[in-house]
Amino acid sequence: MIPNAPQRRRAVPAQGPGARALGKPGTVVATRPWRRLDDGRTQCDVCPRLCKLHEGQRGFCFVRACADGQIVLTSYGRSSGFCVDPIEKKPLHHFYPGTPVLSFGGAGCDLGCKFCQNWDISKSRETDALADEAAPETIAAAAVQLGCRAVAYTYNDPVIFQEYAIDVARACRERGIRSVAVTAGEICAEPRAEFFASMDAANVDLKAFTERFYRDLCAAWLQPVLETLTYLKRETDVWLEITTLLIPGENDSDKEIGDLARWVVQELGPDVPLHFTAFHPDFRLRDRPPTPVATLRRARALALASGVRYAYTGNVDDPEGQSTWCHACGRLLIGRAGYAIRTWNLTTDGACPQCGARCAGVFDPQPGAWGGRRLPVRLRDFVAAPPGGESGEAAAAGQRPS
Ligand code: SF4
Repeated sequence: MIPNAPQRRRAVPAQGPGARALGKPGTVVATRPWRRLDDGRTQCDVCPRLCKLHEGQRGFCFVRACADGQIVLTSYGRSSGFCVDPIEKKPLHHFYPGTPVLSFGGAGCDLGCKFCQNWDISKSRETDALADEAAPETIAAAAVQLGCRAVAYTYNDPVIFQEYAIDVARACRERGIRSVAVTAGEICAEPRAEFFASMDAANVDLKAFTERFYRDLCAAWLQPVLETLTYLKRETDVWLEITTLLIPGENDSDKEIGDLARWVVQELGPDVPLHFTAFHPDFRLRDRPPTPVATLRRARALALASGVRYAYTGNVDDPEGQSTWCHACGRLLIGRAGYAIRTWNLTTDGACPQCGARCAGVFDPQPGAWGGRRLPVRLRDFVAAPPGGESGEAAAAGQRPS
């Protein structure tokens, strides 16, 4: 799927007194992208923050730490909770529309966004936030039993718990379940190749189109995100969609939206869907108003005028902006109300019935019927089943709530 992507075996428990002090057996595992520095510290090479850690010290993301002279992940097998969501909520509008996706995340984050909409888990410094536990095979088995088409690594950024995410994705692949990464895309080249080799689709946050925004509001960087986007589009077959949360007065000018959309068309092509979503005052950015619907519609119009074929509004009631339209003749292809599909006009091979133009994406002949439901589940209620059991599609008829 991805040429020359480095492969590793399943994550192995970290041995040693430092690792044992950081968590119970099985939750602390060895990692690979790190190096020893001359001053005695150890540098984590997962994200561009490149944390330089003393023995026993945790990184900015909280879940990676230095133990026994190496970088370890301290949250393997632990999650802040599981939920079955519509795939449209990730948001992915062109990847098996209408299907349910088993979603989970962990604690911590490698970014410091002042406007974080999931700050209770992303800023957590308490392992209490990691309330549910599950082995990779249990998650894959639960996805099959719940009739999910995919598992999503979301709520916080999966690049920081990638050893766990990769093992889950591999267990899922053995059972025909796809994997979806919802990420900010701040990741270095070597772990990026390994992480995305296990993914089938990604929604990458492109939070703004200026380094100023990334520095002042996210304590992060724009350029690595652009590199992740071009890597995904040019060097993998991971299905890619992009989300930009528009914050009044910060990243919603015509110029910035136009620059962003033109860059997407030029560097990634016109078929990468763009989602403009509404900000709600939260965490440390409570002095800005919510994003008006008119701003999202303006951004969508600017993106379409710049050559983007599929642009969407999100987090607001806007059926036109949430529906998929044929880029060639303008025919309605997928009508949506919120996360639910109301109209399906794609042909069985994913084309417009009126003009025959192909709609970019990954489609089944018919859409899923999950609707807009959100179903919390407890993974400890499921047991791992051997690969080759009931497929996700076959199990769809008998979804099993927790
Ligand atoms: S993944 Fe965590 S520990 Fe590693 S560099 Fe990024 S923030 Fe630091």
